[in-house]
Amino acid sequence: MGNPKAFLDIHRQEAGYRPVHDRILDFGEVEQTLNTRERKLQASRCMDCGVPFCNWACPLGNKAPEWNDALYKGDWELAYRLLNATNPFPEFTGRICPALCEKACVLNRFNHEPTTNRENEAAITEAAFREGYIVPRTDIVRSGKTVAVVGAGPAGLAAANALNRFGYKVTVFEKNEAAGGLLRYGIPNFKLNKAIIDRRIRLLEAEGIEFRYGQEISLADAQGQLFKDYDAVVVSTGTPTARDLNIPGRELKGVHFALELLAQQNRVLAGMEYSKEERITAKGKDVLVIGGGDTGSDCIGTAHRQGCKSVTQIEIMPRPVEGPDDPQNPWPNYPRTLKTTSSHEEGCTRRWNINSLEFIGEKGKLTGVRVQEIDWKPNPAGGRPIMVEKGKPEVIKAELCLLAMGFLKPEHPEYPENVFVCGDARNGASLVVRAMASGIEAARKVNAYLSV
Ligand SMILES: Cc1cc2nc3c(=O)[nH]c(=O)nc-3n(C[C@H](O)[C@H](O)[C@H](O)COP(=O)(O)OP(=O)(O)OC[C@H]3O[C@@H](n4cnc5c(N)ncnc54)[C@H](O)[C@@H]3O)c2cc1C
Ligand code: SF4
Repeated sequence: MGNPKAFLDIHRQEAGYRPVHDRILDFGEVEQTLNTRERKLQASRCMDCGVPFCNWACPLGNKAPEWNDALYKGDWELAYRLLNATNPFPEFTGRICPALCEKACVLNRFNHEPTTNRENEAAITEAAFREGYIVPRTDIVRSGKTVAVVGAGPAGLAAANALNRFGYKVTVFEKNEAAGGLLRYGIPNFKLNKAIIDRRIRLLEAEGIEFRYGQEISLADAQGQLFKDYDAVVVSTGTPTARDLNIPGRELKGVHFALELLAQQNRVLAGMEYSKEERITAKGKDVLVIGGGDTGSDCIGTAHRQGCKSVTQIEIMPRPVEGPDDPQNPWPNYPRTLKTTSSHEEGCTRRWNINSLEFIGEKGKLTGVRVQEIDWKPNPAGGRPIMVEKGKPEVIKAELCLLAMGFLKPEHPEYPENVFVCGDARNGASLVVRAMASGIEAARKVNAYLSV
């Protein structure tokens, strides 16, 4: 344990975001970094608790007390080794993990100033890359057996990495033109610079993993050739179907799924060109985001950077409680409190208890959405509360409407016994850290299956 009294004297210090007026002019990462001295001070605040709830809360079981101690003592290489022992890609989680560990930190219970684990994780990893501690492994002993991984999102990448290190010849089949899944074609560049993904893929390739892009594998055909050609198959295809809003006017030009906007914007930044007809842009428009979650928040930040006139975000459910504590979901669980992201800070009208009734338009183009305020009453029969109308319908002006209402949990055919499903494809839409943990678990199951 670094400094046993540090948490009493040193306050939590986040690196914070670039100023709004600066960051909304580009798609560069919004988060800043602390200098080395400040970073070590932050690491010193970790109390190395007897019962480390952070470790319990992290789906990867990251050992924050151990690497915080190494970081405090200035041993960046050891800190990286300890971190990498449980987390294959800490450069991703260090940027975009909601830090379940920090909410479970004992200091969060004590004074709502948990250790800055997520930022510490990113700092340790960037230092490790800079100092050359991260190099491809050349000592992998090959078993001669082959495994196919279908889908190169965080679950598939974590599975491929673990399987490759177990000694299998791993081939990753990906329908997109590059790896990363939602890391690349969902999460905006202002949260995760795509060069960070490229850097990791180069390492995985150097360690022997083969990536085949533009390969959409038919999962419906579970008896298909791929399932016979490989000793085992990992299915990590995510949740491809977004929840739709089938109300009148859905066909109007200007109504899109959130991912249509987000994926296209990330592709534009990667150099892809679109015709004027294909291009989805918020430039000069009033934008309405339907869905109050993180995907909706990413649409807000993207709309600002595209030069929108205004953004409104509506949510059918009630406004979450103000934090930091959530009485319904107390520490050390993750609180379901009101979340204000960097994108919300950039400007946005947020409303709750709003139901969408109809997309309205002129000459086939969206001009607004008719909505109505509602209320939720307890259901006498128990279960989901009952929605009741409240107030009069009104029209929210919008030339662009983005549907960010979540994703449907995929259904799978009955697979042969050598097929293992992981990530969002198995659990439904979730988090990068959970997808990675699930990919590692699938790799262990494959290893057990092929080792018999
Ligand atoms: C907009 C958005 C923002 C998010 N932000 C965050 C965040 O900040 N932090 C966080 O922790 N989580 C975030 N998430 C959630 C997180 O991205 C996902 O939980 C995670 O990416 C799931 O990983 P996965 O590998 O299971 O699936 P995915 O990332 O969806 O990857 C699946 C891959 O499989 C490929 N594929 C699908 N079908 C086939 C097929 N038939 N053949 C070949 N390839 C196929 C897809 O092209 C894709 O590359 C966000 C999600 C969205 C939509
Ligand atoms: S991966 Fe997420 S939950 Fe786990 S230690 Fe890192 S920030 Fe915390």
